[in-house]
Amino acid sequence: MRVMRKKIFLISVFIILIMGAFIFVLLPLPGRIPILMYHYIFPKEEIGTSSLNVSINDFQKQMWFLKTFGFRTISLDEFYAIKTGKEKARGKEVVVTFDDGHYTYLKYALPIMERYQIQSVNFLIWDHLTRAWHDDISLEEAKHLTNHPLVIFGSHTLSHPTLREVSLEQARTEIFLSKEKLEEAFNKKVDYFCYPGGSFTPEISEIVRKAGYRLAFRTAFKYYKAYPETLYSLSRIKVSPKQNLFVFWLNISGIIAYAKEIDAFFHQLTGPKLNGKLNIYEPAYKSM
Ligand SMILES: [Zn+2]
Repeated sequence: MRVMRKKIFLISVFIILIMGAFIFVLLPLPGRIPILMYHYIFPKEEIGTSSLNVSINDFQKQMWFLKTFGFRTISLDEFYAIKTGKEKARGKEVVVTFDDGHYTYLKYALPIMERYQIQSVNFLIWDHLTRAWHDDISLEEAKHLTNHPLVIFGSHTLSHPTLREVSLEQARTEIFLSKEKLEEAFNKKVDYFCYPGGSFTPEISEIVRKAGYRLAFRTAFKYYKAYPETLYSLSRIKVSPKQNLFVFWLNISGIIAYAKEIDAFFHQLTGPKLNGKLNIYEPAYKSM
């Protein structure tokens, strides 16, 4: 009896391990491409308390993880081709994004991504590029990087305003003019846009589309009071400080997103905000 129990236990462990390995190899599924959001990469002693700061050590481990376990870190051009059906997703694609054009991208993040041959996009703020503060990549440095095979630059407006709090006219200027200025400086098309602080409305998205951008990114995904995901409201996964590799994997595999969808479903069935009415659940992730 005891031997039998031991056998059942060992078989169960074996099955769980096989299933785990299978899930690990399979996820994320083709078409569900996680978009990682980074801002600043610092040495441990300079990291401070901002939730946007990730240590060099953690970042290095995360990039190593992506490369070692067969994730395909694709450029935004390839991501766009997949999203518009011009290319087929093969599975395990990941997009790496950075906001704000901070000097730590150039100094710490890029050398690590060069080591692992990882593509990334950095969304630049025009005024920061040209104000010559030491916190930011300078326009000259950015120009040098425009032909870097692993780097794409996008626009993050002229002055980083919260777009839904300024007039539509000002939003239009921020969106159109930043594209024009970057394109003129780089002598290259700038196809991608990122909303400062993730703030936008459908009207603002429409301006972004009219300006000729192909895609626009927001910050982390919100389930309630959120606009549906389109090519002009792509949500990203914030990589928090001290995120261990297991949580990092739960994020990129999509498991956390699935769990949130299930949670949202039950929340809508039982939540107190229903006024006695049962809302039909609409998954916020929509295919585009
Ligand atoms: Zn920003």
